[in-house]
Formats: sequence, C-alpha cells, structure tokens
Amino acid sequence: MPELPEVETTRRGLAPNITGARITTLIVRERRLRWPVDRRLPELLKGQRLDAIGRRGKYLIFEFEAAALLIHLGMSGHLRLVKPSAPPRRHDHLDFNFDNAQVMRFHDPRRFGSVLYLREQPLEHPLLKSLGPEPLGNSFTGADLHTPSRGRHLAVKSFIMDAHIVAGVGNIYASEALFLAGIHPRRAAGRISLDRYQRLVTSIREVLAAAVEKGGTTLRDFVNGSGEPGYFAQCLNVYGRKDEACKRCAGIIKQQTIGQRASYYCPRCQH
Ligand code: ZN
Repeated sequence: MPELPEVETTRRGLAPNITGARITTLIVRERRLRWPVDRRLPELLKGQRLDAIGRRGKYLIFEFEAAALLIHLGMSGHLRLVKPSAPPRRHDHLDFNFDNAQVMRFHDPRRFGSVLYLREQPLEHPLLKSLGPEPLGNSFTGADLHTPSRGRHLAVKSFIMDAHIVAGVGNIYASEALFLAGIHPRRAAGRISLDRYQRLVTSIREVLAAAVEKGGTTLRDFVNGSGEPGYFAQCLNVYGRKDEACKRCAGIIKQQTIGQRASYYCPRCQH
C-alpha cells in the first residue's frame, strides 16, 4: 500500500514535469473508483493550468487555476508520467494529457483510490479538515500525541495510525518508529509520558524522512511485485523480520496482530 513517503515521492517526481502545463484532454477509462469519478471531469479540467501539487497526509492536492483535484492512491494505486504514445495497460483508469507532451496516468488494480473534483478550498474538504498534524511538518510535537492520548487504552500503534491523530503514519512506518523510540506497540496510548511521545515524534519524522529520501532515487517503480516498498526494505529494523535477529540487541523479532494489522517489535528493546 502506498504510504506517505511513496506519496511524497510521487509528488516530488510529478511536480517539476507538469506544474505550469495545461490539461488538453482527460481520458477516463474507468469511473468506478472508491467514489465514482465525476462524469463532467474531462470538461471541467479541459484547458486548466496546473499551478501546484501539494500533499496532506496521503492525499495529493492538484491545484488548477480554477479548481482542485484530490487524489488518493488507495491500496494499490500509482501515478506515473508516460509518453502520449504509451499504450494503456489493464487498470490504467485515467490519463491526464498536458500540453507539454506529458501524460499523467492513474493506475489502480484494486480501485480503492479516488480522484475527486473539489469546488471548495482543498483544506476545507471534509476528508482533509479532520486530519491530524502533518508528521513531516514543523509544528508536529510530542504534545500532539500526548494530549489526545490521555485516558485512552488503545494500543499506541493503533493510536498513531489514526489519521485524525497524525496524518499518514501507516503500518510499516508505525512499527519502525516505535522500535526506534523503544516503545512496545501494544502499550496503552494513555500510559506513555510526554517525554516518550517527544522521542516517538522524532522517530516518526526520522523514519518517514529517510524513506522519502530513498524514494527519490527510484521514483517510477516505488512498489515492487508484492506491493511493498522495495527500495526501503533493506533499511527496515523490525517490519517483516519475524524470527530474525534484532539489529540492536540480537534478540528475536516478534510478530503480533494489533488492530488487525501485522505488527513487528523487539520484546527486549521495546517496553
Ligand atoms: Zn532488540
């Protein structure tokens, strides 16, 4: 599943190639995404100049001169730049043709992604308005986790994966950040001190920033055959390493299901 680093990598890869260009045509081959693609979208976007590509959590915000488009990659989606002559493959649902001979192609086999046309200010849209702080933003601090966690018995891993608490910390990076911070993923969110949350915030930022940096080198193929971010796999400390040795203490990495998600941790290093 594309996580925040893959989305940010996508944003950085697309922006210099299509910002400032205008949509000539939009081809919609499949409307049935998570929400149906607006039938009028080709007409609404025709001739519009793309002014900027922003990101909020795992949402990409395409700001056109008179509208905005909110794109989420869902479980299996990606956006690629292709040549106008590149024949569409199965699951290539939308082609955004720009006047500089670039085509941004939306591909999504499972169709949990979304392409929404916004009339309102993007940040006022209900999907974005309710999101917690941006984990890579400068204002994200330990208090953003500590304050809303008081009195909560939820496992800290599930807590930090709630987009209303912090936007865009997915399963892989939650496991990795908790390892770096030395916090057991099942510990009750309400029983972690401000100090430890401060350390966790630092770890979340470190792990996401490192993944964004690695993603920058392999933009067009950030997802391997199994859907995991292959480029980052060699940097993982715990995720996917069940029964392997902890890189810090040489103990054995454990796997547990927490909130229906596979969770990996070192019982010696994380408390
Ligand atoms: Zn360990």
